[in-house]
Amino acid sequence: MARPYVGRFAPSPTGPLHPGSLVAALASWLDARAHGGRWLLRIEDVDTPRCVPGADEVILGQLAICGLLPDEAPIYQSSRGAAYREALEHLGKLGVTYACGCTRRAIEEAMVQLGILHERFEERVYPGTCRGGLDGKQPRATRVLTVCGGTEAVISWTDRRLGKQHQNVAREVGDFVIHRADGLWAYQLAVIVDDGWQGITDVVRGEDLADNTARQIHLQRLLGLDVPRYLHTPLVLGADGRKLSKQNGASAFDASDPLGALQAAASTLGLPPIEAGDVSQWLAAAVPAWRARWVA
Ligand code: GLU
Repeated sequence: MARPYVGRFAPSPTGPLHPGSLVAALASWLDARAHGGRWLLRIEDVDTPRCVPGADEVILGQLAICGLLPDEAPIYQSSRGAAYREALEHLGKLGVTYACGCTRRAIEEAMVQLGILHERFEERVYPGTCRGGLDGKQPRATRVLTVCGGTEAVISWTDRRLGKQHQNVAREVGDFVIHRADGLWAYQLAVIVDDGWQGITDVVRGEDLADNTARQIHLQRLLGLDVPRYLHTPLVLGADGRKLSKQNGASAFDASDPLGALQAAASTLGLPPIEAGDVSQWLAAAVPAWRARWVA
């Protein structure tokens, strides 16, 4: 039997929502409402050095001004360490994790030696240096295997907007970090543990995160979690053609004009202009428009 629809918006509190993050918030809310489902809010505050104190409250306020109210009190990933620890231990018992003692520099050197230095260096594929043991190094991070029993993790999935997707995680990413050298939980682990625990059936988020999905499905399969459906929404580009992000200084959307902000987000999502006197009327009219455009 199909699970009842549960969606979520999962912002990192690294600053206020900008017009691009409002697109993801609105899309996930509309999709939940169009399915008669629940919409949850999760504050992803695991990467503490990047979190800005008070940004969570600012985000909640921005969402409320736009009428995007969650069906339950938000959960904070900073309170979920025990669950991430349990998942890590479970994966350890399955024999699919290992301690890694490599520094960033050591990984680069190993890649040069192996002749597999990627042209785009930021897309480094971990060469598996510590897979066979630490060789006297101090353990730093924990990685998950992407080759299990001699089989590479090759993940295929269908995105509701982008269509068929395919990634050989072993070759394109390599064994990836699930517990970081600085002691923090990696996004990949935290996000799937919480999506599973909250019973999320549908992940609707920005396209910049699409590339993480195969890694997340790999972990979901290892942990025996249900794999949600995915819909990655179009990105909002700045005047320079780059995607808006907090890292490149995107500022908050204009909360003094919530209808204007919602309409701009809706047009990014391919919805027609909606005439409405206030936010609740606008949202009520946007639900059928969303259903017509995005729900088969
Ligand atoms: N916390 C992530 C971000 O703000 C989003 C995670 C997700 O939706 O999976 O970029």
